[in-house]
Amino acid sequence: MALHGETPTRSFVEALRAPHPTYSFEFFPPKDDDGEAVLWRTLADLEPLEPTFVSVTYGAGGANQDRTISITERIARETSMHPVGHLTVVGQSRAEIEHVLKQYAAAGVTDVLALRGDPQGGPRAPWQTHPEGMTHAVELVELAARIGGFRVGVDAFPEGHPDAASLDHDAEVLVAKADAGAEYAITQLFFRASDYFSLVDRVRALGSDLPIVPGIMPILNFGQVARMAELSGAAMPAEVLEQIEPIQDDKTAVRAKGIELATQLCRDLLAGGAPGLHFMTLNRSKATREIFETLRSESLI
Ligand SMILES: Cc1cc2nc3c(=O)[nH]c(=O)nc-3n(C[C@H](O)[C@H](O)[C@H](O)COP(=O)(O)OP(=O)(O)OC[C@H]3O[C@@H](n4cnc5c(N)ncnc54)[C@H](O)[C@@H]3O)c2cc1C
Repeated sequence: MALHGETPTRSFVEALRAPHPTYSFEFFPPKDDDGEAVLWRTLADLEPLEPTFVSVTYGAGGANQDRTISITERIARETSMHPVGHLTVVGQSRAEIEHVLKQYAAAGVTDVLALRGDPQGGPRAPWQTHPEGMTHAVELVELAARIGGFRVGVDAFPEGHPDAASLDHDAEVLVAKADAGAEYAITQLFFRASDYFSLVDRVRALGSDLPIVPGIMPILNFGQVARMAELSGAAMPAEVLEQIEPIQDDKTAVRAKGIELATQLCRDLLAGGAPGLHFMTLNRSKATREIFETLRSESLI
């Protein structure tokens, strides 16, 4: 357990500033034991790739938080991988959020992705602050910094957060989080490398050198990714739609095209200087492995 005020020693943040790109994998806490068995098989499949870190999301509305904590703890204890625990402020008081941070520390998890979370009514519902809670993720970054002993990351939105006043304001929000102590950001899924590089440019123009890691989610199931993209405010661009829509009823063809598009996106991101790639695995290993192996065979990661 990290002592208060002590900087954790095992850190990947330096790697995000090194020339060689990092690669990391994201998982979600399953609802039941069967789902957790699948997750552990996936983690075992991906461990030999030696990811820079792996992250575990915090259930929507704070649900399933015990599983997030127990999974990250077990990753820290039983695997060679370095876990990052996500944490949101939705539906919880400050005291409850502080308690979760302390549970993470007690579990040996000192890397936290600090997020607001989506409103309890769903990603497009109006936000309601808990009567004794927080309104924005920056307050959680500040709390983690005050408690001490954590390394904190945040999220970022290449196409802007759906509620953002403007893209510029969204970039200002990100820089405010960096000023409050966030050391890196991971982006929402997106489909065009140019959206990612425009975000990086906006943040650099504000004088911040915060490493921004692109989040990658290949289209394996057209309906599912289209829904996730819409909910997160990412638009599926015409150049992607026109390649997927004609084959949308052929699952094998969609999967192959989705992997091809995601692999090309990764190539473009790395060529343009992205510090790493964060794969949103949806708790499965096969697609991530396929993309990873192609990029490795090209000596890109
Ligand atoms: C990589 C990644 C991982 C995620 N993991 C999870 C997870 O594990 N669990 C989960 O429930 N959700 C997760 N999410 C979803 C995320 O919680 C939602 O997208 C949420 O709506 C935004 O969170 P935030 O941390 O960016 O919030 P905030 O930074 O609070 O921003 C929310 C909105 O408020 C605006 N804003 C922020 N600060 C201010 C301010 N001071 N004044 C005025 N406006 C402001 C922003 O521009 C934005 O529009 C993840 C998202 C990403 C990209």
